[in-house]
Amino acid sequence: MPVMSVNGPVAGADLGRTLVHEHIIIGLPGQELDPRGLADRREIVAIAVDELQRLKAHGVDSLVDPCPIELGRDPELYAEVSQRSGVNIIFATGFYMEDLGIPMYWRSRDADEIADFYLKELTDGVGSTGLRPGVIKAATGMDVTSNEEKCLTGAGMAQRQADCAIITHTQRSRHGARQQEIFADAGADLSRVLIGHQDEQPTPEPIIALAERSFVGIDRVGLDSLASDDTRADNVAALVKAGFGGRVCLSHDCVCTMASARFPFPMPRERRPANVLQDWQKTRKPLSFLVTDFLPRLKARGVDDAQIDTILRDNPSRLLTGAS
Ligand SMILES: [Zn+2]
Repeated sequence: MPVMSVNGPVAGADLGRTLVHEHIIIGLPGQELDPRGLADRREIVAIAVDELQRLKAHGVDSLVDPCPIELGRDPELYAEVSQRSGVNIIFATGFYMEDLGIPMYWRSRDADEIADFYLKELTDGVGSTGLRPGVIKAATGMDVTSNEEKCLTGAGMAQRQADCAIITHTQRSRHGARQQEIFADAGADLSRVLIGHQDEQPTPEPIIALAERSFVGIDRVGLDSLASDDTRADNVAALVKAGFGGRVCLSHDCVCTMASARFPFPMPRERRPANVLQDWQKTRKPLSFLVTDFLPRLKARGVDDAQIDTILRDNPSRLLTGAS
C-alpha cells in the first residue's frame, strides 16, 4: 500500500532515499497564548524550502516529520514546503511524552478514544484541512507514565486498522523494549514500528535486541551533545555485520525552524537568542549533514554502497508502506 504524504499517496518505489525523523518546525504548547506571537511564516517557509532543496540536491527525495500533534504540527505549512521543494513530506498523528505534551483533555480519555482520534485523523485528515497523516507518533519519557502507556496502546490499536507505521521517541534511548511490549499487547504489527532515538546506546547489543522485532532509529545523527557520530557509526556497522542492516533507519532529528518568536526551550535568559529563526540556523547542522559527513563514517567501517542504499531507501519504504 502506498504511504500517505501531505500531498497525496506515494508508492514505496517512488519514495527514494528517505530520512525518517526530521522536523520542519517545532513549537511548544501555549506559545500561541504569547502576545509577542509567532515567528514570521514567510520566513519559516523560506528557510524550510531552502533546507529541503539542499537535501534533494544531495539525493534525498522524502522525509518523515513525526512532529507530535501538540508540538506545533502544521500540515498546511508542510504541504507548501513540500510543493515548493519537491521533497515528499509524510507527517504524523499522535501525542508526545507527558513531560512536554499530552494535553489535559486527552489524559482523561481511554486508549480506545485515543485510537479513534488517531484513526479519524489518518482517515479523514487533520481538522478541516483534508491533509492526512501517514504515520503515528508515540513517545515515552525517562519513565513510562500511565498516560504515555495509554497513548501507546491507542497508537498500537490504530496502527493495525490504518495499516501504517508507528515512529517512536525514546528519552535517552530508554524503554524501547517496553514500547514494543505495549504495542504488541495492543495488537500492533511490530514489523511496522520504528523504535527511535537509539543513539545513546553505548554498545550495539541493546539495539540489536530491539531490531529482532522492529526497525530501530539511529536518528539523531550530528547531535554531538547526546552521542558522538563515531559511536553511532560503530553501532550501525555492528548492526549491519550482525545481519540487521534491513532494520536500521537513519536521520538527524533536525529542527529546521521554530514556530515561536521567543526561543521555546529552557535556556538562561542571557543566552537566549535575540532572533530565534536566524540564530537557530547558526547553531544547528544542515539536513545534508548525514549524506556529507555521516555516510563516509559508515563507509570507513566497511558498510558498502548497497548496504547504505538498503538503509536509506529500502528500510524506510518497507516501514512506511509495509511492502516486503
Ligand atoms: Zn523528533
